[in-house]
Amino acid sequence: MDDLISESAKRQLRKEIPALKAEILALYRSLDRKFGLHAAEVPIEFGFDEERLGAYTPSGNGQEESFYFSLVFVGYLSRESLHREDKLDLYRHEYAHYMQFHMDIPQEYRFRSGLHGSAWKYCCSLVGAAPSEYYRFGKGREKHDYEKALNNPWKNPHTALLDLAHRKREAEDSRNRMIRYRKGDTVVHPKFGSGTIEDLEQMTGSVRLTIRFPDAVRKIDQKWLLRSNYKKRS
Ligand SMILES: [Zn+2]
Repeated sequence: MDDLISESAKRQLRKEIPALKAEILALYRSLDRKFGLHAAEVPIEFGFDEERLGAYTPSGNGQEESFYFSLVFVGYLSRESLHREDKLDLYRHEYAHYMQFHMDIPQEYRFRSGLHGSAWKYCCSLVGAAPSEYYRFGKGREKHDYEKALNNPWKNPHTALLDLAHRKREAEDSRNRMIRYRKGDTVVHPKFGSGTIEDLEQMTGSVRLTIRFPDAVRKIDQKWLLRSNYKKRS
């Protein structure tokens, strides 16, 4: 895994920057026109981050405002390259972050704070981004359920109380269900040492990994593993 991307591959991928930039700017310009914003004027940076697909940094705290995209995932020639729909979804995802800082968010969509809270989800619904902070293959192609994402559980306090435990469990469930590894990944287990993942099985509330350790092959729920190398969008 340490050699996921070689120097020569990086050189190749850097050559794609102008085309990628043009693709992103075309989308951002059309969204800017629609919403009266100026995201297309924000600098776009590219890098080789393997854990992060993209990012939006607002200005402040001595930081310049910028967008960031990892060539590991958006580069056409990259082994990890995302499908076109997922790439567009990623661009929209980051645009929604930009919007969150540059638009008046109606009071009714401010019920859940946080980077990926209800204000951001509201922006996702406007630009057509998947209202989820995690990347999942094929998400860009799905029909998004904004009604569910923007459902304010606190509107009716009685329902909210009844629903809270259920929501907590659901959140936990979906966290455990998310596949965070790939075949061939090396993982470290506190007791069995370092092993290689040979198979992954999606279970109802978990992911079961088949791992070859030095002494034996074992099936282990991924939540018991120390190393988390899942890719998260920020
Ligand atoms: Zn995000």
